[in-house]
Amino acid sequence: MSVYLDYQAAKPVDERVLKAMLPYFNEIYANPESLHHEGDLATEALEKAREKVASFINAPDPESIIFTSGATESNNLALIGSALRNKKKGNHVIISEIEHISILNIAKYLERQGFKISRIPVDQYGIIKLEKLERLITDETILISIAGASNEVGSLQPVKEISEIAKEKGVLFHSDVVALESSIPIDVQEIPYDFLSLSSNDIYGPRGMGALYLKKGQRVNPIIIGGGQERGIRSGSHDMAGVVGFGTASVIMKREIHEEAHRLKGYRDELIKGVLESIPKSYLNGHPVKRLPHNAHFRFDYIEGESLLLGLKDKKIAVATGSACSSKTLEPSHTLIAMGLLHEEAHGSLVITLGRFTKKSDIDKLLHELPEVVKRLRILSPLTPPELLEYYKVVNK
Ligand code: PMP
Repeated sequence: MSVYLDYQAAKPVDERVLKAMLPYFNEIYANPESLHHEGDLATEALEKAREKVASFINAPDPESIIFTSGATESNNLALIGSALRNKKKGNHVIISEIEHISILNIAKYLERQGFKISRIPVDQYGIIKLEKLERLITDETILISIAGASNEVGSLQPVKEISEIAKEKGVLFHSDVVALESSIPIDVQEIPYDFLSLSSNDIYGPRGMGALYLKKGQRVNPIIIGGGQERGIRSGSHDMAGVVGFGTASVIMKREIHEEAHRLKGYRDELIKGVLESIPKSYLNGHPVKRLPHNAHFRFDYIEGESLLLGLKDKKIAVATGSACSSKTLEPSHTLIAMGLLHEEAHGSLVITLGRFTKKSDIDKLLHELPEVVKRLRILSPLTPPELLEYYKVVNK
């Protein structure tokens, strides 16, 4: 069994979630739109799950949760749905330069439809420049969409300050909070988001399931038109097992988030310290403190992230070089480039993300194997300077 340290790309479904889902495949299988008793049972389960997801983000009104097929759809619904709904008010949308690929591509789509998109730059840690945001807002601005945390480098964005600026300027604020769902509590009463994109798998629920949170009084135009389910905002028959799984995952995550985040932060800090101390010319990408408790993102001079990933694969350790959603491109990460890294620096990166089932022995194994893999690759690399080769000869471990 390999050591899995790629939780940002995909998480296993928690056994407790799976157990709650199973009856909804072939025992309670009616359509909640149906008026018979079996339909009532399904409706009851649907609304209970909605309450659980609402409670997870401290939303007072369960109606504020619209079930979708995942965060990609929620992002589409938030951006396209609110752009269409508000186009009489203005045609300007603001995102950041380091959004998830789904937001970046939706923004390009909106540009092709005649909307104007501004992309806020980030600092060296991947945190947006608030003063730039204030300056970008015009009378035409209808929406700001900034993720709560970078799914790649793990830097946390100042969402409270962004929400205050948005509120003061009368602009809607959407946030894709998928990257932080499993380690930072979300409270929509504390931070007045207008829209949030949520994913079920990121809290150990089933894949292909998500939600859009809409603040009371906010609406978006539907982008999937059909039978009018989900208050007419998202048509299509409900995936009942998925919905129930998402609800159960929400309850467990809400109950366990503090303990889990605390534990993972301990592992993460141990990992960061261990890597930086044992590997020369290694660096942490992203903010040293304002970062996701489960994310460690490194860069190593003179070698490529892909070779490192493959070296660790041989040792049965699963890690990533960037976002799984864009890992098949040969382009360097847009996030690292936006943070000011050179192309070769961006290519030398390794992302390690921890999760619910990570054990201390997983961290120990990585800390044991990684320095050796780096050393082996550096000895082969034509870029490695003589003094570092000399160091490896002397240390020779
Ligand atoms: N946003 C972020 C930050 C993500 O990491 C992902 C992928 N997990 C998505 C959106 C897309 O989510 P989904 O695969 O549920 O559509």
